Amino acid sequence: MHEIALCEGVLGVALEAAAGEPVRRVRVRVGRLQAVVPDVFDQGWELVSQGTAAGGSRIEMVEIPVLVRCRACGRETEAPEPPLACRHCGSPDVQVVTGDELVVEEVELAAGEVRRNPTLAASGEEG
Ligand SMILES: [Zn+2]
Repeated sequence: MHEIALCEGVLGVALEAAAGEPVRRVRVRVGRLQAVVPDVFDQGWELVSQGTAAGGSRIEMVEIPVLVRCRACGRETEAPEPPLACRHCGSPDVQVVTGDELVVEEVELAAGEVRRNPTLAASGEEG
């Protein structure tokens, strides 16, 4: 049940972003390496958010595939299954580019306002 600990981390960030306002929805980016079970994550969220400004809110997971950069051939390939290795040359000497993150992407307030995580690169929109 490491999902509970992850939920607590998400909750802290979400409450800070909401600054005391009631929360309707929280979207998180979850890398595959976190090995999160969506149902368990949902339940964990319900549990930890109870009685807070995020109580009764919905958690939305965006799964991020595992991408590794190979130190041997320099290519970036997807590594859908462990063990992590380069799919191009097979070298296990790789660096994880994406897939181990767990970040709050946006928090939607009950009032309708959406607060995006300013540390994430903008995806072409202002906001
Ligand atoms: Zn390689």
